[in-house]
Amino acid sequence: MLNIILCGAPGSGKGTQSDLIAKKYGLQHLSTGDVLRAEIKSGSELGKEIDALISKGNLVPDHKMNHLIEHYLDTLPADCKGIIFDGFPRTVVQAEALELLLERRNMKAVMIDMFVEEDEVIKRLLERGRTSGRADDNFETIKQRLKIYQDVTKPVCQYYLKKHNYFAINGNNTMEDTFAQIDTILQLIQK
Ligand code: AMP
Repeated sequence: MLNIILCGAPGSGKGTQSDLIAKKYGLQHLSTGDVLRAEIKSGSELGKEIDALISKGNLVPDHKMNHLIEHYLDTLPADCKGIIFDGFPRTVVQAEALELLLERRNMKAVMIDMFVEEDEVIKRLLERGRTSGRADDNFETIKQRLKIYQDVTKPVCQYYLKKHNYFAINGNNTMEDTFAQIDTILQLIQK
């Protein structure tokens, strides 16, 4: 199985790259942001709680996210070739939980970290905000999301780096350029 954790700041292009990888390698794409937005859309009580956090750029608590991932792993199709984790883990607590959940299933994952300059991600998110309809694509919330990314999510990259399970790429240029770098890594690790 080819399991990839795609890490990068909000607006770095994780969703776009995940779609490209999923298509080329036949993998399942798990976007935790999409799952949470679907819960909000359902109008459930849980969705309302999540909405209050997401619209301010804050993270959903770890125990809720870990539970969601466990359920996802338990309901994977039997012919699953691998998973792209897009937006998870976002904290070291989530990374530790994921490692355990994968170990129990004889699975492993590698991290690909996409570096994009802060000015560039702000530009991309404001552009996306014109059409995305996302409550969190506005300047104030973007600032908060970037702060959380630096303070809470960046240490997750260190976690994978220390475990020698980490690749970094430059995501500042075109979508095609970023994908070419990811593709090279995936070809290498499959050998
Ligand atoms: P994304 O679509 O990945 O940008 O996620 C949108 C928002 O969903 C984030 O800003 C968080 O509020 C929430 N979210 C997504 N994934 C996670 C996660 N792994 N842990 C906590 N909150 C999350």
